[in-house]
Amino acid sequence: MTECIFCKIINGDFNTEFVYENEYAVVFRDINPKADTHLLVVPRKHVESLNELDDEVLLGKLMMTVRDSAKAAGLKSYRTVINTGKEAGQEVFHMHIHILAGSIKL
Ligand code: 5GP
Ligand code: ZN
Repeated sequence: MTECIFCKIINGDFNTEFVYENEYAVVFRDINPKADTHLLVVPRKHVESLNELDDEVLLGKLMMTVRDSAKAAGLKSYRTVINTGKEAGQEVFHMHIHILAGSIKL
């Protein structure tokens, strides 16, 4: 049984609404938004951080998912952030890409 909060969300354990999803990733709203719109693009595959990601095809698919989910959310301008490692502010050790738009408090 997984202890990873994002794996549980992907499994549907918390009935989290996915604003976008595809074969590679799910996208949902950050529970503690740092911007008017704050989405998280999370690969279905558990990878701790960017440092452990060795699948360049998946990395490309994740960036395409950023673009496609931002478009689906009606965002024309947005910032993407990947926190890698505790000292850089990573709190959830299941790699993810933040999408921030509007007024950003970062
Ligand atoms: P990190 O700091 O690891 O880059 O980002 C983790 C993000 O996940 C944080 O912005 C935090 O607010 C968000 N988060 C943590 N737990 C949950 C959760 O259970 N649900 C959702 N939707 N977001 C979460
Ligand atoms: Zn996980």
